[in-house]
Amino acid sequence: MPKRLELHCHSIYSDGTLSPVELVARAVQNAVDLLVLSDHDTVSGAAELFAAGSRADLEVRLGIEINCAGSGAADRVHILGYGFKPDAPGFSERLAEFRERRTLRAQRIVEKLRAFGVAIDFEAVRAGAYETLGRPHVADALRRLGVVKSRQEAFERFLIKGKPGYVDSMGPSPAEAIALIRDAGGVACLAHPQTAGKESELDELHRAGLQGIEVLYSGHTPFQVRAYGHWARSRGLLACGGTDFHGPRTGRDARLGVEYDDDAYAALMDRFAECL
Ligand code: AMP
Ligand code: ZN
Ligand code: FE
Ligand code: FE
Repeated sequence: MPKRLELHCHSIYSDGTLSPVELVARAVQNAVDLLVLSDHDTVSGAAELFAAGSRADLEVRLGIEINCAGSGAADRVHILGYGFKPDAPGFSERLAEFRERRTLRAQRIVEKLRAFGVAIDFEAVRAGAYETLGRPHVADALRRLGVVKSRQEAFERFLIKGKPGYVDSMGPSPAEAIALIRDAGGVACLAHPQTAGKESELDELHRAGLQGIEVLYSGHTPFQVRAYGHWARSRGLLACGGTDFHGPRTGRDARLGVEYDDDAYAALMDRFAECL
């Protein structure tokens, strides 16, 4: 029997709009067999996730997504982590540092937007966030101000490279993100590989210690699934999968989970078991 797994989704602790409790309820509705919460740069949703998972009798696990920075493809690289120990030495301190850099970036984005004539203030951005800040919170503030109608519109008009509110990411390099997850006992995987670019760039990440790649991403065409699946298999890497669900009013609100066949599921579970 194929399984439905969600290894990539976000809660209100980063830039999603549902709480971990609501995510668990949604996963049950969507007939998901395993839900992994992968918030950006935080594990603060863990306690709620595990409590709700056990109440609903749903298998849940903790993950993370770290958005990187650097020249070339590095600023399009997002590293997913699974099976790490959140209390490993230095782990939570590094995440806190990444979150501080995100706050600084959001403040700079607000300054650029104000200089451009958009009457937005940082407190309005901060007010929409529980913990990790990101461009989506600036987008939400612009929507509340009536400047845009959606996150998508805010990104396209103001927040992507070349637009008036763009500020470079201040995240770690891909090698640093991979090392942080591996040093905490986890598996480091590449999220939505199509945004990271060409195969040579994937190979560079592999050399930096990457252990898996999001083959079964909801946005992939069947051809991309085959191509990334081949790339992973030929290097002995893990094929992970998810939808990058963010919740209502984010533009990323489709059914949770992607289908894993028996072999892919067994390989994933073996890999997770090695992390214990
Ligand atoms: P940041 O981490 O601050 O650079 O923001 C990047 C995050 O914004 C991604 O991880 C996505 O969650 C979200 N995002 C990126 N592009 C879009 C878009 N066009 N519409 C909505 N959300 C987006
Ligand atoms: Zn996100
Ligand atoms: Fe991402
Ligand atoms: Fe994501």
